Amino acid sequence: MGSGGEFLCLTCKRDEARQFSSKEGLEEHNNALHKKLKFKCVDCANRFKTKCELEAHVLEQREAKREARREAKREEARRRKHTD
Ligand SMILES: [Zn+2]
Ligand SMILES: [Zn+2]
Repeated sequence: MGSGGEFLCLTCKRDEARQFSSKEGLEEHNNALHKKLKFKCVDCANRFKTKCELEAHVLEQREAKREARREAKREEARRRKHTD
């Protein structure tokens, strides 16, 4: 009993007990091996089955960031006008 914090992969359990010391480790293994989500976004660690899905996501994120930056600038300009 009691080393604690052990995470078991239920999918692998039949063949061999695979244990992970962290939930992240188990998730990583689960995503990579069982869900076949091989493509990982470096920005937010989202995973995707295909390169296409990852690329679409990256583009989306990039566009969203750009839009957020634009919005921040607009907001700043608005504030400046106000204080002048
Ligand atoms: Zn497994
Ligand atoms: Zn992402």
